[in-house]
Amino acid sequence: MLADMKNILTILQNISIWNVVDILIVAYIFYKLFTLIKETRAEQLIKGLVFIVVIMKLSDVLGLMALNYLLQSTLTVGLIALIVIFQPELRKALEKLGRSKIITRKLFDTEEEIEEVTKEISKAVQNLSNTKTGALIVIEMETGLVEYTENSTKIDGLLSSQLLENIFVENTPLHDGAVIIRRDRIMAAAAVLPLTHQHVNRSLGTRHRAALGVSEASDAIAIVVSEETGNISLAVNGRLTRNYNEEKLISVLSKVLKQNSSPNTTMFKKVKLWFKKIITR
Ligand code: ATP
Ligand code: MG
Repeated sequence: MLADMKNILTILQNISIWNVVDILIVAYIFYKLFTLIKETRAEQLIKGLVFIVVIMKLSDVLGLMALNYLLQSTLTVGLIALIVIFQPELRKALEKLGRSKIITRKLFDTEEEIEEVTKEISKAVQNLSNTKTGALIVIEMETGLVEYTENSTKIDGLLSSQLLENIFVENTPLHDGAVIIRRDRIMAAAAVLPLTHQHVNRSLGTRHRAALGVSEASDAIAIVVSEETGNISLAVNGRLTRNYNEEKLISVLSKVLKQNSSPNTTMFKKVKLWFKKIITR
C-alpha cells in the first residue's frame, strides 16, 4: 500500500506544468471541435465515420480481411468527400479560429470616437426608417471585409449621417447593396454580400438574408432598414433581432463597439469563460 502511494507520488512529482498545459490544450481542442460540429450537418456524418472506424478495427481484430479492405477504402473516399462537402463549414471554422487572437486589435482609440460613430449611424438609420428607405449598413469589426468591397463602389469618406442617408436615396446609383463602415469612415457602397442559408421567416427578403449572411461569415454588425415596413433590424453572429429605434440602436451599438475596442478578449478571459461554460453545464 505504502509502495503504491510512493509510486503515485513519484509520478505526480514527475508531472511538469507542461504536461498539464499539454492536456489542457488537447482538451480545449476537442471541446472546440465538438462544439463546432454539434447540431450541424457534420454531426451525423462524424457519427457515421466513427461507426465505420469502430467496425474497421473490429474486422481487423477478427481477421475479416475483405470487410476490412472495403471499409478502409470507404474511409479514404469518405474523408475526401468530407472536405469537399463541408468546405463552407471548414472555411467558417478556420475563419473563427483566425479571429480568436490572444489580444484583439483596438478598433477605436477613444470612447468619444465610438459615441460619435454610433450617434451618426443611429441618426441616419432612424431617418431612413422614418422615410421607409431601404438600407443595409455593415460595420466592420475584427474580420476584414475587403473581399466585399472589391466589386463595390469605393468611397473612403468621413462617416456622417447625411452621407449615409444620401447613399440610400432611391433610384440613385449607390442605393442598391450594402454600405461598409470601418471605424469612422464609409469605405464602400453598393457592396454585394453573401446570403444566409438559414431558413428565415418568409417575409424577410434578400436584404435581410444578406445582413445575416455577412454576420455569419464575419464578426461584423449589419443594420437593416426595411423598405417595406421601415423596421430596423440588427444581424450579429448569424442572429437577427428586430424593432430597433434610434435610442435602442445607440445603446446596443456603443456597447458592442466598446466591447470590441478594449483588449478584453485576452487569453485569460477566454479561459475563464471556457471554465464557466463547463461548470454551468
Ligand atoms: P425590405 O424589407 O427592404 O423589402 P427584404 O429583406 O424584403 O427587404 P428585398 O425586398 O429582396 O429584401 O430587398 C432587395 C434589396 O436588398 C436590393 O435592392 C438590394 O439593395 C439589397 N440586396 C439584395 N441582395 C443583396 C446582397 N446580396 N448584398 C447586398 N444587398 C443586397
Ligand atoms: Mg422586400
